[in-house]
Amino acid sequence: MKLLEVKNVSIAYEGDKNYAVEDVSFNIEDGEYVCLIGSNGSGKSTLMKGIVGLVPVTKGQINKEIAPEACAYMGQVNMIDKDFPATVWEIVLSGTQKRGRRLPFYSKKDKATAKEAMDTFEINELADRRIGNLSGGQQQRVLLARAFCRNPKLLILDEPCAGLDPVITEEFYRLLSQLNKTRHMTILMASHDMEQVASYASRVIVMNQTKEFDGSIAQWKERNQSCRNF
Ligand code: ADP
Ligand code: MG
Repeated sequence: MKLLEVKNVSIAYEGDKNYAVEDVSFNIEDGEYVCLIGSNGSGKSTLMKGIVGLVPVTKGQINKEIAPEACAYMGQVNMIDKDFPATVWEIVLSGTQKRGRRLPFYSKKDKATAKEAMDTFEINELADRRIGNLSGGQQQRVLLARAFCRNPKLLILDEPCAGLDPVITEEFYRLLSQLNKTRHMTILMASHDMEQVASYASRVIVMNQTKEFDGSIAQWKERNQSCRNF
């Protein structure tokens, strides 16, 4: 089943005559783990923002076959401000909030959902800590737990491991892979790190303003191999 259709999408920022993303098309099927790779400035973040509606699409169409609530997005984050006052528990719990609800009101069910997310990402012992005081890897797990509270069908992550050390990154990718397999969560993740990603994703899309490659990990490796040989 198709969850998302990106059809001839081009995106230009206001006042910029060049496209940041040009004529990109692909579908995401239920259960896939797709990695969007490309160097800095290749249009990964712009495309993801276009998909979730944070930037307008200049040309083409984005068709979501699922409800907006069934899609969770975790934007590219830099280190969270040290003085940000919320605790880990408050941040994860806020992920259960429905759209359009103005005052936070958490039901027993919301609390149970947040607790389960804390368990899944092994952050229980951090519950009362302020997020600003945590390490980058811990912060990422908190934000992922928050996104997870919605039990999304489609999880869109923009460089979730930027700035993290390789061991923590590896662990994080393994966790995502587990969610993909055991929870049947469809994942679209951007990364500029081509090597590490390859062991977990089921499919790779290479961006360089346009879509340069789209295929399985095996096909992608084969292509890299033949590039090296020439
Ligand atoms: P990536 O995520 O692959 O590093 P981006 O999508 O952030 O790439 O950037 C693609 C292009 O769009 C770059 O040339 C970048 O300078 C430009 N760009 C990104 N964000 C903005 C913005 N808010 N306003 C204008 N140009 C932008
Ligand atoms: Mg980016």
